[in-house]
Formats: sequence, C-alpha cells, structure tokens
Amino acid sequence: MSNLFDRLVGNTPDLSAIAIVNVDGRIYTYGDLFALSAQLAHVLVQQGVTPGDRVAVQVEKTVPALVLYLATLRAGGVYLPLNTAYTLAELEYFLNDSEPRLVICDPSSENGIKVLASRIGADVLTLDQVGQGSLITQSARQLKDFETSPRKGDDLAAILYTSGTTGRSKGAMLTHDNLYSNAATLIDYWRFTSKDVLLHALPIYHTHGLFVGTNVTFFSGASMIFLPKFDPDRIMDLMAGASCLMGVPTFYVRLLQHPKLDKSAVKNMRLFISGSAPLLADTHREWQAKTGQAILERYGMTETNMNTSNPYDGDRVPGSVGFPLPGVSVRIAEPDTGQLLPEEEIGMIEVKGPNVFKGYWRMPDKTEAEFRPDGFFITGDLGKIDALGYVHIVGRGKDLIITGGFNVYPKEIESEIDAMQGVFESAVIGVPHPDFGEGVTAVVVRTQPEQIDENSIINALQDRLAKFKQPKKIIFVADLPRNTMGKVQKNLLRDQFSKLFAK
Ligand code: AMP
Repeated sequence: MSNLFDRLVGNTPDLSAIAIVNVDGRIYTYGDLFALSAQLAHVLVQQGVTPGDRVAVQVEKTVPALVLYLATLRAGGVYLPLNTAYTLAELEYFLNDSEPRLVICDPSSENGIKVLASRIGADVLTLDQVGQGSLITQSARQLKDFETSPRKGDDLAAILYTSGTTGRSKGAMLTHDNLYSNAATLIDYWRFTSKDVLLHALPIYHTHGLFVGTNVTFFSGASMIFLPKFDPDRIMDLMAGASCLMGVPTFYVRLLQHPKLDKSAVKNMRLFISGSAPLLADTHREWQAKTGQAILERYGMTETNMNTSNPYDGDRVPGSVGFPLPGVSVRIAEPDTGQLLPEEEIGMIEVKGPNVFKGYWRMPDKTEAEFRPDGFFITGDLGKIDALGYVHIVGRGKDLIITGGFNVYPKEIESEIDAMQGVFESAVIGVPHPDFGEGVTAVVVRTQPEQIDENSIINALQDRLAKFKQPKKIIFVADLPRNTMGKVQKNLLRDQFSKLFAK
C-alpha cells in the first residue's frame, strides 16, 4: 500500500468526519473528498492519463483544485502544480519540459494554453475560481468509486518546479514515500490530532500549502478552514473556531498590525507555524508579547519537504529554525570541499533523509551536482548549528530573493531588463521590505538615459514576468560595483539600498 492515497484511506477511520470547511460555508467530509477524487480520477483516466503521466495544473485555489491532487495520485499520475502568476511565456517552458498528458487551467488562459499543449500532444480541461469548468462537468457523470492505481513508494507523486539561478527552472521529483514520511513526522512533532482545525490561507501550488498544510491535516484526520488567500480580517474572525495557522512571515507581520490581535483573540489557537522565509526575531518577540504564544518556526524547501523545526515543548528560539526532524540528518559543511564543520561554524546546510527528493526532472547532471557522494543534498542555504543543536540560517548561497514567501531568482529578471533598448546591464537584489520580507529591486545601468525610465521598465515587464517577480523599485546608477574577478558585488548594493523600503 505505497500509493499515498491508499495510505490516506487506510488512515481515515471516519468518513463522516469533516475534512474541509470552505470559506463559502460548504462542508466536505472525508467521504465527500474521496468520492469527488474518484470522479476526477475517472476523468483523468478517460483523458489518457496512465501511471507516471504528468498532470499540469494552473488554477485558482478551490476545494476541487485540491481534490485534483488526490485524484492524480489515485490515477497513478504525477501532480504538477504551477504558480497561478506564471505568464504564458513562462508556461511554455514548464509544459515543454514536463510534457504533461493533461493540463488543467483557468478558462481565462485556456486559448493560450491550448496552443502550447497541442505542440506536446496534451489535452486541456478547465477549472475556474469557483471550482467549475469542463473538468467538473465531465466528472459529474462519473462513478464515486475508483480503484486506486498501485504505486511503489519510490514512484513519483509530484513534480514541483523551483527556479534556477541560471534562469532555468528545475522540476523537483517527489515520491509517495517522500510525502508520506514527512507528513507522519510532522504530525507527531507538532502533535496534530483529529481535533485540530487548520486555517489554510497559503497557496496550494507550493510545498508549504500543498504538502505541509494539506498532508498534515488529512493524515491526522483533522479539518481545515479553506481560504482562497490570506486576508487578515478573515483570519482574525476565524481564529475562535480554529486551532492552528501555518503561514509565511508576511502573515505574521500583517496580523501584528491588526487592531484585534491580542491574547483573547488567540485563546483557542494552540499553534502558530512559520516557514518558507526567515521570520525576523523581532516579529517573533512582538508576537509573543502580544499574544502570549511563541511562533514555531520551521525550515524546509521544495526539494526536501521539511527538515528542521523548533520544538513543540521547549524553547522556540527567535531567529532559529530549530532541530533536525526525527529521521532527518542535517550537517554543516564547507561549501566547496564538503568538509564537515564543527558546531557554531557557518557553512553549507546539507540534509539527508526519507524526506529528500529523488532528483531533478530530466536533469541528471544537476541532480548529481547537488548531492554529495554519501547522499546528502546540498541545500544552497548557509547556516550553522549551535551548541544546543538549534539550526540557524544565516543567508542564501545563491542570491535568492524571497518576497512574500515566494522565491525570485535575480538572473531571470536581469535577463529581461538587459534585453531592453537603452539598458546596458542590471543587477537585481532583495532589499528588506516591511511587508514582503524582501522587495525585488533592480539596479540598472543605462546607455541612453533619455530613452528609458522607471515606468517604461516596469511596464515592459508586466506581461513578461509573474507579478511577484516584478521589481518594486528601479534604481539607476552609472556603474555596477565589481570585484577583481569581474563579479558584480551584490552585497555592496544590498548595503547601499538597505533602507529603500524603510517606513
Ligand atoms: P522553497 O523551495 O520555495 O520552499 O524555498 C526554500 C528556501 O526558502 C530554502 O532553501 C530557504 O532558503 C528558505 N527558507 C525556508 N524556510 C525558511 C526559514 N524558516 N528561514 C529562512 N529561510 C527559509
């Protein structure tokens, strides 16, 4: 019984228990989810999805969209969610690279996606922001039973794309065992039970909302309140009927500004979890002072699921991501040589365990380059382990920008700007931002200042890049600072513009 879905069924004694309360008030029991997943799985099979086939999904967050994840597992397919912000130009790469059998998209992008899909022989169905579309129309006449396709633990359950520093995104291949082992570990570590009610306000195309939020809820038989997006007023109103929130640091920064946030507002909540980007120690302390509860910060990534977590009991240390999870080995190594470093020394964070992905889709060389010979994955994050065993992340080796919980790789934006008339070169950096954690900022050298200004660059990027990647500010300079090897010194730019978004 290695298919994640079979394990879920085996784990769910009470089909009448509530699994999801949708924001519109509609209630889905586990039985409802399983029945809908069967109907959707029949549609997938009729569309030609066979075990191992990718099902690419770019849709808004709805309950049927989440059930599509379960349906794909049942059909033996590989679920491939795509950020809703990706433009057609960006989708072309993802579809060509992953070669899905079927693409499910919003009706608004159906025409454009059909052109891309026809080139790779894929079919297209739709699912809109209220959970309707051709996928649902077709599913209505299907049986509510489906014989789940047997899969091995090492078979792929999902591919999630992470951006690449070189501009090429990589598809992280996650197996049924990867997802199951991490969910089981987190449930234990965070004491999830069927009594829990999770406030689910994260997107479901990313590992945090899709796997951490959903798998932890479902595999503990808990329930979730499903919100289409983060809305501080709504979250504040719903806290009385919930027990847990999973958020990115931006959630907590925003909630701290809410007039209703105090100890009595959170009295029914037992756990606030943060991850996907660094939570400022100040935010951690402010939250504790205001609510009496310490945020539990954890660390993970698309390729590895969750690696470390602050303890449930015991000190949740501000600025630390806690201890390696049970079964996960974390070590710090010299980035170039891989030589292990003693406690308190900063180096590359490397991890190994059943949570770690199988490799990058159709990129064996990249995969090999990012694993040590003894199987440890080189995360690209720099950090240290202190004398008490807490892991601290001190920076990212790859100049990654994390804005509002999303990763932005500068190279991709730089390439777009550099291609513009009147631009000589550019450097894109992340600058501390009170709302987003980091604000994407482009530092640009012009050849013809009269030809190009901030507005023209921002306008030109609008249809080229997802909104979260677009620079919040363009700064013009005469030259970029470089070291003797000719490399742009982004650290100097970050220092120079560190107060750009200060309030
Ligand atoms: P993603 O693959 O989108 O989940 O991004 C993974 C990256 O987010 C990691 O490699 C880290 O750089 C960063 N990250 C995740 N959680 C944390 C955290 N708690 N503190 C600091 N950085 C984090």
